[in-house]
Amino acid sequence: MRYSQYFIPTLKETPSDAEVISHQLMLRAGMIRKVAAGIYDYLPLGLRSIRKVENIVREEMNRAGAIEILMPMVTPAELWQESGRWDFYGKELLRFRDRKDGEFCLGPTHEEVVTDIVRREVRSYRQLPLNLYQIQTKFRDEIRPRFGLMRGREFIMKDAYSFDVDSSAADISYDKMYQAYRRIFERCGLRFRAVEADTGSIGGTSSHEFMVLAESGEDAIVSCNCCDYAANVEKAEARISEVTAHVEPRPLEKVATPGKKSIEEVSAFLDVPSSIMVKTLVLLADDEPVVALLRGDHDLNEIKLKNLLGCETLEMAPDEIVLKVTGAQPGFAGPVGLAVKIVADLVVRGMRNFVTGANETDMHLKNVNLERDCAVKAFADIRNVSQGDPCPRCEGGAMELWRGIEVGHVFKLGTKYSQALKATYLDADGKEQIIFMGCYGIGVGRSVASCIEQNHDENGIIFPIPIAPFHCIISTVNYAKEEEVRKASDAIYEQLLSAGVEVLLDDRDERPGIKFKDADLIGIPLRIVVGAKNLVEGKVELKHRATGEMELLLVAEAVEKVKAAVAEALKK
Ligand code: ATP
Ligand code: MG
Repeated sequence: MRYSQYFIPTLKETPSDAEVISHQLMLRAGMIRKVAAGIYDYLPLGLRSIRKVENIVREEMNRAGAIEILMPMVTPAELWQESGRWDFYGKELLRFRDRKDGEFCLGPTHEEVVTDIVRREVRSYRQLPLNLYQIQTKFRDEIRPRFGLMRGREFIMKDAYSFDVDSSAADISYDKMYQAYRRIFERCGLRFRAVEADTGSIGGTSSHEFMVLAESGEDAIVSCNCCDYAANVEKAEARISEVTAHVEPRPLEKVATPGKKSIEEVSAFLDVPSSIMVKTLVLLADDEPVVALLRGDHDLNEIKLKNLLGCETLEMAPDEIVLKVTGAQPGFAGPVGLAVKIVADLVVRGMRNFVTGANETDMHLKNVNLERDCAVKAFADIRNVSQGDPCPRCEGGAMELWRGIEVGHVFKLGTKYSQALKATYLDADGKEQIIFMGCYGIGVGRSVASCIEQNHDENGIIFPIPIAPFHCIISTVNYAKEEEVRKASDAIYEQLLSAGVEVLLDDRDERPGIKFKDADLIGIPLRIVVGAKNLVEGKVELKHRATGEMELLLVAEAVEKVKAAVAEALKK
């Protein structure tokens, strides 16, 4: 491609409404433009990277035996009513009516639509297993679209759905997808972790998220520094700490703590470490008050508590409810004497003579002992794992905290959708059986954005070769006026093109400085600089964007090196 005939509208200034680096750089590099909140144009460079990811995804899906289809973006309400999600999905589902007043929505995911295909077409166990996938535009009316392609409302997703005769066959399909995902993200050049994830409201038995490691990530994940245990913090198990040796309970003591509400304030005021304090949280589970107890320096994991209580909604109680439940202003709650359901974290079970609020404004209690002083309904793991916690799976390992961007998600669905939509098959004995399903998503645009989060410097993007819009750029010095430069550049361009290298020839009538800046900004991995001075000796410069390494090479050598580097990076 000749730069002068192409369309790369780069920007000098960083757009003020872009918060994360990938969003800033994708705008500046002319890859995307915003049309409306969470809705983008893909300009040529952006589209090229997107297509690269799609092709890697497609190759690996096909390799794993999945079959490509394309489902509609507009889907009828009836299917969603059958699964129950029409009412459950909430505002992320963009609904509308057609001219005949029929109700529709834009597909945010396609379990219903694909299950409908399978229930109509699959009759016999001989047609299973089946895995259908598509690469398609999704729409989710996200409450806070942001960070460019990272959290859009309209975005491209690969979604696959597996159909099997039973649960163990479904496990095999799941493992195939898990392996395919590893290959996909490795081939994209991403540094990632596969982590155990919460199955959330979908239920099911198992789920993994593929997380690209990046400081700007919205998810917190933990991994063991010894074994291969890794999980989303939402789900990560805390190791059950040993119950402390017998400690004599001391008598309860009420102490004045005027105006001291937070754990930090009380711990400083009473001069006790936060690890011998217990925090008492008042929450509303489906509008019923519940109290959760945690060690002072631990944080509540709302998902674990929600799963434990089996409730649909869980939120911190407003001040007036705290007052009603405890009889005190917020900040002075404690478990002693409360009439509501109390759940405590497993760690709290082993604590003795600790400090809590006294359920009286400006008062705390010392030497609280659960067995003696209050009735706890359940002990369970309800806290977030934190940095340095012991690993739940191995001896001696410690947990490390990371931030991650979820680029893919694999899920065992069981029979949730097949049951609701009656997707069945006849087994070898002619008996009707329910189909077991799995679903598997990859955010295509989010993968490109997270790659940029991992690979950039102050000058711009540093694309890995497999998903770079072009492999190589030829930056020319005085292409318009120097005939030698023009001839040599054109020859290199032709040679690389015919070797299958994707090459951008910067033939613009611009100063070299501008061309180098643009080349760095758009992140092309390899750059050949053609200038009259070096050509006298038959040489050109080859620069590697990632390392900054620069080599002065004969033209033929440079061409060979580029070909070899590209071939090496694209090995499957
Ligand atoms: P998140 O927790 O980030 O909202 P999700 O759990 O809703 O993600 P899935 O329903 O599992 O996501 O969708 C599959 C994949 O689609 C995700 O792993 C992610 O890569 C991508 N994805 C989801 N929502 C968006 C979005 N709003 N913009 C871009 N990509 C998205
Ligand atoms: Mg979401």
